[in-house]
Amino acid sequence: MSIQVRDVTKLYGEQKALDNVSFDIRKGEIAGLLGPNGAGKSTMMKIITCFIPPTKGNVSVCGFDIFDQSIEVRRKIGYLPEHNPLYLEMYVKEFLEFVAGIYKLGKNKHQRVDEMIEMVGLTKEYKKKIGALSKGYRQRVGIAQALIHNPEVLILDEPTSGLDPNQLEEIRSLIKTVGKTKTVILSTHIMQEVEAICEKVIIINNGKIVADESTEKLTHFNLNDSRFYIEFETEINVDILKKVEGVESIVKLSPTSFSIIARKGIDIRHQIFQQAIDHKWVVLTIRKEEERLEKIFQQLTKE
Ligand code: ADP
Repeated sequence: MSIQVRDVTKLYGEQKALDNVSFDIRKGEIAGLLGPNGAGKSTMMKIITCFIPPTKGNVSVCGFDIFDQSIEVRRKIGYLPEHNPLYLEMYVKEFLEFVAGIYKLGKNKHQRVDEMIEMVGLTKEYKKKIGALSKGYRQRVGIAQALIHNPEVLILDEPTSGLDPNQLEEIRSLIKTVGKTKTVILSTHIMQEVEAICEKVIIINNGKIVADESTEKLTHFNLNDSRFYIEFETEINVDILKKVEGVESIVKLSPTSFSIIARKGIDIRHQIFQQAIDHKWVVLTIRKEEERLEKIFQQLTKE
């Protein structure tokens, strides 16, 4: 296990930012910490990275304890905070060499900086001052900085906030590339981001975990009823469809296509096929609709 969070509570004075939170992240996983603003995501990340201690509970990173082995934990982690402070007057390469110096990379320093520049796609920009870069490129500098000491775990707090759609796509694809060799935790309040990048999603609301699932499972998880989309070649008699066992309601989307709500747990497709054979209807499409993560997120995080 790469990260183990156990019964973590964090109080800021009277304010409970995290309330008895536990979860695991496996080695090599890309996990999304998803939640509305103020849910406790940044607090969780700051605890994992040893920036602040929990009030109660414990965390281990790659087998090291955040209280007793915080130096080892920091060595294992690369962290990109939400508002990453960069030295805007420094040149990209100069800055990365400065960071490499802090990590005491010694004679490997120049080689490592060059590798990072290539890996995060800064080859055309490395001679520029950081202040002259777009937000997307500054994020690349931030990711290069977080990865320079070759950590096993990369923690990214809202890595795509404020980026335009192209930059967003580029940073997401960079995170996916990094995720092939490292454990990654990213926080976001954007559900599509989790769907696009993460294998696992932890939804947090008011400091509590409300879901901890693989992204695939969560998107297949039906909260209430099952929905099916059905399209026939020609118009059919809807009354026959309504009589199929398990059908709750039918919405006519076009003269030949329908959205059907079925009772939870009932797969109406066999029955519908049977009716289609009996009545010589040609079925062009029949599929079970997945719940969008967005809707699941809204249901799980409403007060
Ligand atoms: P998120 O990252 O999900 O937006 P945060 O972890 O930043 O959430 O905040 C969780 C809660 O803790 C919020 O209600 C926030 O106002 C509060 N909080 C965060 N940092 C502090 C702090 N240093 N002092 C007091 N309250 C804080």
